[in-house]
Amino acid sequence: MFDINKITRKNVLKMEPYSSARDEFKGIANTWLDANENPYKNQFNRYPDPLQIEIKNEIGKLKGLKKEQIFIGNGSDEAIDLLLRAFCEPQINKVYIYPPTYGMYEVSAAINNIEVVEIPLAEGFDLPALETYSAKLEAGGLVFICSPNNPTGNTLNQSKIKELMNAFEGIVVIDEAYIDFSFEDSAIKLLNEFPNLVVLQTFSKAWGMAGLRLGMAFANKDIISIMNKIKAPYNINSFSQAEVLKSIKSEDIVLSQIESIKKERNSLMTKLSKLNFVLDVYPSESNFILVRFENANEVFQKLLARGIVIRNKSSQIKGCLRISIGTEKENTNLINELKKINNEESIIYR
Ligand SMILES: *Cc1c(COP(=O)(O)O)cnc(C)c1O
Repeated sequence: MFDINKITRKNVLKMEPYSSARDEFKGIANTWLDANENPYKNQFNRYPDPLQIEIKNEIGKLKGLKKEQIFIGNGSDEAIDLLLRAFCEPQINKVYIYPPTYGMYEVSAAINNIEVVEIPLAEGFDLPALETYSAKLEAGGLVFICSPNNPTGNTLNQSKIKELMNAFEGIVVIDEAYIDFSFEDSAIKLLNEFPNLVVLQTFSKAWGMAGLRLGMAFANKDIISIMNKIKAPYNINSFSQAEVLKSIKSEDIVLSQIESIKKERNSLMTKLSKLNFVLDVYPSESNFILVRFENANEVFQKLLARGIVIRNKSSQIKGCLRISIGTEKENTNLINELKKINNEESIIYR
């Protein structure tokens, strides 16, 4: 049985959260003398809503969730850090990750002095069968699943994820930063069935708001209320709150951008696979493609010299570079330069 008191750090259960002026009085008034703000009006002289209720109402409508099931963070990275600080006792509980995956889980665990257990992905960068690693899973702590996975681009098998959520006596976090580019449904639909599930999404990728720093966590209300208890009081600034509300209201623009990016992704994959120094173009349900080259480091350096920056993942995955999907023009530029590099290379190597 899921018991929030069993999995939460003892100091977090015991502590009294900071109570801000805006927590203590939320009603309507005409004279605000409670927060030591400068009274002369400009766009930003007042503190922002600490719980971002307007945003949560809008996101709730989009995702079919109550606002008590939604946490808004200063990027998903804040949510990742808070989950570790709330639900992992340093040197006792562990974090389980499936490399190759997003680097922040490990970094954030290290900052929090929490041991990381690596369970490498299996064939096709999918989850291994649970019985092959279930002996490693201790009660408590966090599992991080990234689906679609960064940097491989594929989604992970949902029935294996469900099996894990049933077996694991801690919290399972599914990071869905790229879900808007995927054919798979969000794990949000599983929240009612699995009280130990946390789903992360972000405004940084499909939504085009990376600069605002806004991440979301969806979970049962007990988990969300612990995250709210320990977050910085005014973690989302007024500017970001206002801008994201505008962006949610013009969702149709984002939806059409997602369609263009997916179309570009398919066309880029076809063109990449025709280059003869490309060994593999991995399937992608994200806005990037993982590509294996004969000579990844040279290709990476030569692109850099031509002013094109991609991500070198070859230390994590042999021979692999990760390419974000750009505009049609940027992608054409990339392919043209790769063709030139390919021709130079074939003179050298063949
Ligand atoms: C980009 C990315 C995020 C987003 O992080 P933000 O802090 O919200 O910008 C989260 N998870 C993964 C796997 C990512 O690739």
